Amino acid sequence: AGPFLSVRDLSVEFSTEDGIVHAVDGLSFDLEKGTTLGIVGESGSGKSVTNLTILGLHDPDHTKIGGEIWLEDRELLGADRATMEKLRGNRIAMIFQDPLTALSPFHTIGRQIGEVYRKHRGASKKESRERAIEMLSRVGIPQPATRVDHYPHEFSGGMRQRAMIAMALVCDPDLVIADEPTTALDVTVQAQILDLLKELQQQSGTAIILITHDLGVVANTADDVLVMYAGRAVERGTVREVLREPRHPYTWGLLSSMPRLTSSVDVPLEPVRGTPPSLLNPPPGCPFHPRCDYPELAGPELCRTQRPELSPGTGHSDACYLTLRQKTDIRAQIKDQV
Ligand code: SF4
Ligand code: MG
Repeated sequence: AGPFLSVRDLSVEFSTEDGIVHAVDGLSFDLEKGTTLGIVGESGSGKSVTNLTILGLHDPDHTKIGGEIWLEDRELLGADRATMEKLRGNRIAMIFQDPLTALSPFHTIGRQIGEVYRKHRGASKKESRERAIEMLSRVGIPQPATRVDHYPHEFSGGMRQRAMIAMALVCDPDLVIADEPTTALDVTVQAQILDLLKELQQQSGTAIILITHDLGVVANTADDVLVMYAGRAVERGTVREVLREPRHPYTWGLLSSMPRLTSSVDVPLEPVRGTPPSLLNPPPGCPFHPRCDYPELAGPELCRTQRPELSPGTGHSDACYLTLRQKTDIRAQIKDQV
């Protein structure tokens, strides 16, 4: 059998009034059950679009999609609306940054969690309510049998996030996509929520895609990392590989803007200068070249005109023309200067 989830050469373009946005370009990755893939990048790097596409939530009238997305033996991009609707909430679930986009203010938490269970499992009202209480208890909400009848506004921010996770997990999905699930929360609650996701993963073998701009979140939660820049994957590897031996100049920049990591990682202490490119008109060659300090070393003509690619397969790889030796030397030099 192949990987549990396999994204192959995915491209996503939408037409806007200003032209065509190349949101995702040539993206490939695999995800196994029971593991977490962190997708990291600045806003506009294509990470959220990728996941909306996996969920089939893109607007088909304005979106052009290429490539393939395989969930076990089912190809999702060719699936019809009804099939995707059946998969969403049941086998694939989504956790959003803002629980209020997922929770309606007009219905009790218990009814909303129960509704998902009823829809996909054909459970009775009573069963659904019991399941909602069980889920609230699993995500650590105190007095779940009372809380089940409360409305979202009666919950704190952290509890709403937990309730949303309870709703996402009510049908024991095989794949959970969490898009910046903790960004709006304070650090303590953030850590609790990430621990909770890990715990639930250990219990049920869920595969998780964790989308974030924060490499610190990935360091503590993910098994593998994909760094995205301007709609493309620029580095891929295990968390250990990418954090200990980051190879792409953009990853160096991302790491250096993380003060809690830089003490153990020898990277330039400069955040990435400049701004992400417009996806209406992405730069030719290496998409990072306008912000990169090293084209002279790698070959400026190459960097400006030819697109570097990740190696196929699954090992640690980055899309940059610098040799491994050059990367090691640059990182050593920078370390000496500090
Ligand atoms: Fe920089 Fe060139 Fe490497 Fe791109 S390919 S990151 S421009 S050195
Ligand atoms: Mg986003």
